[in-house]
Amino acid sequence: MKHVAIVGSGPAGFYTAEALLKGGGVAIDILDRLPVPYGLIRFGVAPDHQSIKAVARRYEKVALTPGVRFLGNVHLGADVSIEELLHYYDAVVLATGAPLDRRLGIPGDDLPGVIGSAAFVGWYNGHPDFADLDPPLSAEHAVIVGNGNVALDCARILAKTPAEFAGSDIVAHAFEALGGSRVRSITILGRRGPHQIAMTPKELGELGHLQAAAPSVDPADFPPQGTDAALDPGQRKSVELLRAFAATPPDGSKPKTISFDFFAKPVAIEGDGRASQVIVERTALGPDGQARGTGETYALPASLVISCIGYSSPPIPGIPYDEALGRYPNRTGLIAERLYAVGWARRGPTGTIGTNRPDGFEVAEAIAAAVPAGSTRDGAAGLDRLLASRGCEPVLFADWQKIEAAEIAAARAGFAREKLVRLPDLLEAGRRDQE
Ligand code: NAP
Repeated sequence: MKHVAIVGSGPAGFYTAEALLKGGGVAIDILDRLPVPYGLIRFGVAPDHQSIKAVARRYEKVALTPGVRFLGNVHLGADVSIEELLHYYDAVVLATGAPLDRRLGIPGDDLPGVIGSAAFVGWYNGHPDFADLDPPLSAEHAVIVGNGNVALDCARILAKTPAEFAGSDIVAHAFEALGGSRVRSITILGRRGPHQIAMTPKELGELGHLQAAAPSVDPADFPPQGTDAALDPGQRKSVELLRAFAATPPDGSKPKTISFDFFAKPVAIEGDGRASQVIVERTALGPDGQARGTGETYALPASLVISCIGYSSPPIPGIPYDEALGRYPNRTGLIAERLYAVGWARRGPTGTIGTNRPDGFEVAEAIAAAVPAGSTRDGAAGLDRLLASRGCEPVLFADWQKIEAAEIAAARAGFAREKLVRLPDLLEAGRRDQE
C-alpha cells in the first residue's frame, strides 16, 4: 500500500485522488486548512451557479471511498511541515490553489474600497477569511478591473436583485448587504479590446438577462466585423454577444448599467482616505497584441474598485517558490522528489474546473511510476500521532457531513443552504461528540 497526502480539497485535489484510486493499492489523506472540503467549488464558484457546484457530489463519492480520508482544519506550514508529510507519506501532492489576489501595482491600490476578487468572491461565498470584509455599497459607482470570468461574476452579483438569488447559496451577510446596495453603475475595465477578452459565452450571455441591469458596450470599440472570423468559435460567440449588447438601445426600465470600457487601463486610484475615483489611461494594441498607454487619461468615479486580474499561490516554508510566477516551480507537476503540484498550484490561475482532471491523472501516473509498491512509511497512523501530539484536531469527512446537514437545515426559504462562515461555528457544528 502506498501512502499519498494531497494538500487541498478543491477540484485539483479530488481529481488527483480519483485518479490515484483508479491505479489501486493506495491510501490517500486529503488535507485542508479549512474545516470544510471542496475549495473553489464552495468558495470560488458563484452562489448563483449551483449547477457547477453540483460537481461536489462526485468529489463526495471519492471522499467516501475506502482508503480515502478528508482531514480538514490541518494547515500545512503551521500544524504540519512539508518535511513531516514527506516523512510519513510516499508522495505529497500540493493542490493548494491560488488563493491570493494579485495587486494592481498602481498608486492608491491599497486605499479602503479597493478589493481583490479573492476577497470579494470569498465574502459573498462565506469564506471565513473574508466574513468581515464589508465592501462599500452605499455609493453609485463601482469599477471592476479585468476582462475574465471572475470580473463577470463580480459584476453580475453586484447587479442582481434579491429575487434573482433564489435557489442560490449566497450567504446571509452578503445577501442583505447587496439588497441594500446603492450601486447603480458598474464599469468593467479591459486594458485590451473585445477580441482579447477572457470571458466565456455562457457567463457573458447572463448579463443580457438580468432583471434590473443592462449591459452597455460602445460600438466604436470593435474591429471590423469581418475580423471575427479569425477567432476561435468560443471567442467568436463571446464577441457576437458583445456586438449584440452594443446594438441594443439603452433600456430605460433597468436602473443599473454594466458598462464595458475597453482599451482602458487603471493607472491610479484616488480619494481622500478611501477610493473615490479611478484614473484610467486609454490604450491601443501594440504590434505584439499587448496594451500600450496612449497618454490620454480620464477619471471614473468609484467608491468600490474590485480588481479581477488573477491570483497567486502563497509561499509555504520548505517548498521552492517562484516570486515572479507566484507559484511553485515544477516540471509537469514535479516540484522535487516525491513532491508534486496539481491545478492552479501547478499551472497558475487558468482554466475551468474540468481542466484540473488531466492534471490529476498525469500526476497519479507519475506517482505510480516513481513510487515502489511496498511502502515502509507510516502514512495516516504517523500523521494522526503527530497531530494528536500537537493538539490539532482534524475535521473528518463524517464531521463535514454534520456541518453540511446543519447548513442545509438552516437554509432560508428558497435558498440551497446557509453556510456557516465563522471557524468556531464550523468546528462546533462538526464536533464528533455531539449527536
Ligand atoms: P483571467 O481569465 O486570466 O482574466 C484576467 C483578466 O485580468 C484579463 O482580462 C487580463 O487582461 C486582466 N488583467 C491582468 N492584469 C491586469 C492589470 N494589471 N490591469 C488590468 N487588467 C489586467 O482570470 P480570472 O477572471 O481571474 O479567471 C481565472 C480562471 O477561472 C479563468 O480560467 C476563468 O475562465 C475561470 N473562471 C471560470 C468561471 C466559469 O466558468 N463560470 C468563473 C470564474 C472563473 P489581459 O488579457 O490583457 O492580460
